[in-house]
Amino acid sequence: MRSPVITRHSALERDRPDKPARAFFGRLCYHLRMITFSLQSGSNGNAIYVEAGDVRLVFDAGITGAAAQRRMDVHGRDMRDVNAVLISHNHTDHVRYAGVYQRKFGLPIYASKETMAAVWCNLGTLSDVRHFQSGDVLTFDSVKVHTIRTPHDAQDSVAFVVEWEGKRLGILTDLGHPFDGLQTLIESLDAAYLEANYDPHMLETGGYPRDLQARIRGDGGHISNDEAAELTRGCGQNRPKWIAVSHISDDNNRPALAIGAQHEAVGKDYPVYHASRYQTSELLTV
Ligand SMILES: [Zn+2]
Ligand SMILES: [Zn+2]
Repeated sequence: MRSPVITRHSALERDRPDKPARAFFGRLCYHLRMITFSLQSGSNGNAIYVEAGDVRLVFDAGITGAAAQRRMDVHGRDMRDVNAVLISHNHTDHVRYAGVYQRKFGLPIYASKETMAAVWCNLGTLSDVRHFQSGDVLTFDSVKVHTIRTPHDAQDSVAFVVEWEGKRLGILTDLGHPFDGLQTLIESLDAAYLEANYDPHMLETGGYPRDLQARIRGDGGHISNDEAAELTRGCGQNRPKWIAVSHISDDNNRPALAIGAQHEAVGKDYPVYHASRYQTSELLTV
């Protein structure tokens, strides 16, 4: 199969044999829709898969190689068919297995220089890291990936927007707080993974020490169910066709609360999916 990956700087060849095992459904939708599913989302590890045209990308590398492949198997996908792994920030739940993905599956890692300098876990030997800066637009064949700086408490932390054939998918977690421009960004999307990290009441009354609570709800922490719901509501007619509530806390939230907050804000008919901490999401299309 023709190699699809083109960086900002240069074309690169990644010859791979075509995989006969690639799911029939994948072929069927190949040139029609952007496909995505979450392999896992939360502080226990993050990875999101996106497929558009000939391009296959994984966003973040926070679950083991074996778990990633197992979760890809659910939808008939293969980690070795992925063209690149893009890292949002240096926190362990997003970057821990980047080295494993590279060595086990042969994948180039895209990350900002600041992110890689700030990683505190041992990634092992990395031979192919391609640096970007927040604000850069990365091009992979016909797919563009916009990197958007967020105020999360990490070095050069970014959210992503994947754009293909006029469709835009947001991967918006670890956002810090509802920062300037976030509402407008969400209104520009056709679909989004949207952080809904904590329920304010559960955080307040749970077992977390006060300083950790303050970090989570502070400007560099995470977005709550209420903030996420307010963002979706604020989109009005420009609301994405669906959202998937993501990066949900195990200690300070429940999926039903995150989904419920969305439905309360915009109505029960609005499609709200759930990017789980424990399993692959349904296969979603954009
Ligand atoms: Zn995280
Ligand atoms: Zn983080």
